[in-house]
Amino acid sequence: MDYVIIGGGIYGAATAFELSKRGAEVLLLEAKEVASGASGGPGRRGVRANGRDLRELPFMRLSYERWPSLHQEIGAPTGYERCGHLLLLERPQDVAAAAAHAWAQAKQGIPTRLVQGQELREMEPQLAEEVLAALYCPLDGVADHTATTRGMAQAAAKLGAQIRQQCAVTRFEVQHGRIQALVTSEDERIAVGKRVLLLSNAHTALALADQFQCTLPVWTMLPQVMLTAPLDPMPIRHLIGHASRVLAIKPHPDGRVMISGGWRGTWNAELERGETVPEQVLGNLAQAQAVYPCLNGIAVDEANAARLETLTIDHIPIIDKIPGVENALFATGWSGHGWAIAPTVSRLLAEWALEDAQPALLHPFSLTRFG
Ligand SMILES: Cc1cc2nc3c(=O)[nH]c(=O)nc-3n(C[C@H](O)[C@H](O)[C@H](O)COP(=O)(O)OP(=O)(O)OC[C@H]3O[C@@H](n4cnc5c(N)ncnc54)[C@H](O)[C@@H]3O)c2cc1C
Repeated sequence: MDYVIIGGGIYGAATAFELSKRGAEVLLLEAKEVASGASGGPGRRGVRANGRDLRELPFMRLSYERWPSLHQEIGAPTGYERCGHLLLLERPQDVAAAAAHAWAQAKQGIPTRLVQGQELREMEPQLAEEVLAALYCPLDGVADHTATTRGMAQAAAKLGAQIRQQCAVTRFEVQHGRIQALVTSEDERIAVGKRVLLLSNAHTALALADQFQCTLPVWTMLPQVMLTAPLDPMPIRHLIGHASRVLAIKPHPDGRVMISGGWRGTWNAELERGETVPEQVLGNLAQAQAVYPCLNGIAVDEANAARLETLTIDHIPIIDKIPGVENALFATGWSGHGWAIAPTVSRLLAEWALEDAQPALLHPFSLTRFG
């Protein structure tokens, strides 16, 4: 098989689609099922440039062009909605910095402006009085991550990619600086014709350490998401973030409010799964209620912290060749915001795999940035 992709999250599925579109022979191997990792689960994902690391903004500028018509491209729903993002500012020092942030984002092609007073209240009538202003990115939005990831894998399959689920890669055979073959949990040996793309997120750093003696400055976390009982009318109109609170809020199409932003679950080693922690659920809810008092007394329908995500010490991903291996690329360490940029980054990964030249936009994400 020419191109073997490991991992059926958004990165594996979208890179399989991009390679297949260009006529490549592709095999995608997924340990469980497509969208069973960070790219699946309840709620929706933010497609947000606002507040993002400046090095990732070129990806967002290009992804803005893709998201609105991605469903046509893949022939499947993405649930994408361009609702705009408000990064709420509650502290005078954050308001003081806002114009500089807006300027820097706008310079990268991300329309951004400061909203306050009557205009902000008209945009979000239920906001607490304490919120002084917000940075507004009208081109930001939300998408249905599970539907998009599955749709992307199906689109790749229609173009000829082979997608194999319940098939974990357990070992790599390396000779003369190339991965010659992969071995699966079924002890099947799969010969590699051209290139391997290791896009297995939480598994990537373990595989690099175990099999290639390469340590990545990466670790895992379990981000928590909650969905409230349905509300009618829906009090939230935009995708919401906050400059000084650990908080993100999204209106859900079924009338529920999704609350997240960085609160964590814990790993149950016995059951081998991520679980929520009551204090984290209460803490996250309290942050949402402080900003939207209309959420006081609301019931939480569902809380989930089952999806492992990877973090890096500088909060941007690592996308590179496996050191010492001629024919293998990897990408991991999305730091909780890898979703929105996936349409662009997976296209660049496919180009790198086909042309054997690192696209310039990926230079800042090399492993060599750590020395
Ligand atoms: C709760 C939560 C909320 C988030 N919110 C946002 C957001 O609002 N905006 C945003 O931009 N980003 C967000 N993110 C981040 C984003 O979802 C992730 O960065 C992105 O989905 C990562 O995609 P991936 O394909 O790299 O990884 P994953 O989706 O984790 O896919 C990796 C796949 O590899 C498979 N695998 C593992 N080991 C093996 C093996 N040995 N062999 C074969 N397959 C293997 C796994 O089963 C898994 O399916 C959020 C993440 C989480 C968890």
